[in-house]
Amino acid sequence: MSIVTRFAPSPTGPLHLGHAYSAILAHDMAREAQGTFLLRIEDIDQSRSRPEWEAQIEDDLTWLGLDWPRPVLRQSDRMGAYTEALEALWARGLLYPCTCTRRDIAAAASAPQEGAPLLGPDGIVYPGTCCAAPRSGPIPETALRLDMRAAEAALGAPPVFTETGTGPEGETGRIETDWRHVGERVGDIVVARPAMGTSYHLSVVLDDAAQGITHVTRGADLFEATAIHVILQRLLGLPTPVYHHHRLIRDEAGKRLAKRDDARAISKFRAEGASPADIGRMLHLG
Ligand code: GLU
Ligand code: ZN
Repeated sequence: MSIVTRFAPSPTGPLHLGHAYSAILAHDMAREAQGTFLLRIEDIDQSRSRPEWEAQIEDDLTWLGLDWPRPVLRQSDRMGAYTEALEALWARGLLYPCTCTRRDIAAAASAPQEGAPLLGPDGIVYPGTCCAAPRSGPIPETALRLDMRAAEAALGAPPVFTETGTGPEGETGRIETDWRHVGERVGDIVVARPAMGTSYHLSVVLDDAAQGITHVTRGADLFEATAIHVILQRLLGLPTPVYHHHRLIRDEAGKRLAKRDDARAISKFRAEGASPADIGRMLHLG
């Protein structure tokens, strides 16, 4: 089997050291196996995505010595596929409309009987306020949540995947997440946001399958989201790739490098005269 990896940046800011690490890892993993490395532009958040950032990201990646087949897949061109998948999940009664605001969710989740609100891979674990909303008729234009109990009933087996890197606590190998953990620590995640008509989770799962990605390489901050992705893959009849989560690149103070941290932008190092080899050294790549 020939391996296919990808780097999937959101064009909402500059490519920084952490992105470069992720991209180089995915690229080298494919190259070493005579596989294919793909670039995908995750621009579903049209309010924050900018063509200038996309151009800069591609320019920085090329400067770093990476190459990939064109044309590049852009999520904004895939709305039809996302809608089709949502319609299918909706028709099976797996989704429900949610009209809660962030504030409603925070208030419901911190009600006295609930204890402290739990933070899951998709923000505060949703307390289920809207789960009795009707699930028939045309697909509503509100946010849509995935009912994890219904997912459990539909799938039976808990989500499982193979990790060849490490999660934040050193998790590796066969990773199984039991449904109880999904219910308590993940909850009914949003699969479609009203202004977007999709979500990060739904799009990433559909695109990885459409592009034939065999190995997903990405930062360990997305490790917890992987169970969500496997659940969506199973519900949609899509294959589960191998996952390789990698360490996060931190700055001197040990702080995770945020996307907005322009101080670590590759373009800044370039402007200061750094070479791609210098970047490799900063990332402790051999
Ligand atoms: N687009 C996501 C980001 O910029 C990465 C998605 C993924 O690798 O699954 O963080
Ligand atoms: Zn709600």
